[in-house]
Amino acid sequence: EDCQKLLTAEIKTFPDWPEKGVNFKDVQSILYKPELALITSHYLQELLPKQDVDFLFNKILCFDARGFLFGFDLAKASKTPMILARKPGKLPGEIITQTFEKEYGLDEIQVQKSLINPGDKVLIHDDLLATGGTAGAAAEIILKCGAEIAGFNFIMDLSFLPGRKVLQQYVDDSKIKAL
Ligand code: IMP
Repeated sequence: EDCQKLLTAEIKTFPDWPEKGVNFKDVQSILYKPELALITSHYLQELLPKQDVDFLFNKILCFDARGFLFGFDLAKASKTPMILARKPGKLPGEIITQTFEKEYGLDEIQVQKSLINPGDKVLIHDDLLATGGTAGAAAEIILKCGAEIAGFNFIMDLSFLPGRKVLQQYVDDSKIKAL
């Protein structure tokens, strides 16, 4: 909760960007202050499922591009393989594509197919939850691969948008975590 207050105070908001009506929260604000980045990383790790008491996850799927920044910290801290969900055209090999709707138009994400297999429990991380379109697309990819969704982990949840509701179709609310 303290971390949330700190982030609310420190993260710069750009009104009407990239479109009118969108208030863009800029994660650059965290990166620019190393102390704040360390605190953010620490508290995000605290949100990870406790492997022994909570539920299991064996892979972390992170989003292009700001999801990579702290997602890599989470993967290292939990000694879990990290999977990159990328914008179209970036990945070699056999890929799986999911189209989804964003706050500002249609988009696609891609994942290398061989990295997610039946039986996997995949945790999804991104910087920010808004409409849930992006994280929902990740969830669909995981299901298409025959794997399970272990949960969601975000730095920020814009709670005035329906993101959390959208993700509740995939997991219990207790598995949707944000600072
Ligand atoms: P959603 O798909 O509408 O939930 O939007 C979340 C995705 O869009 C994430 O990948 C975010 O990085 C990006 N995004 C949407 N709104 C913002 C914002 O205000 N700040 C930073 N990223 C945003």
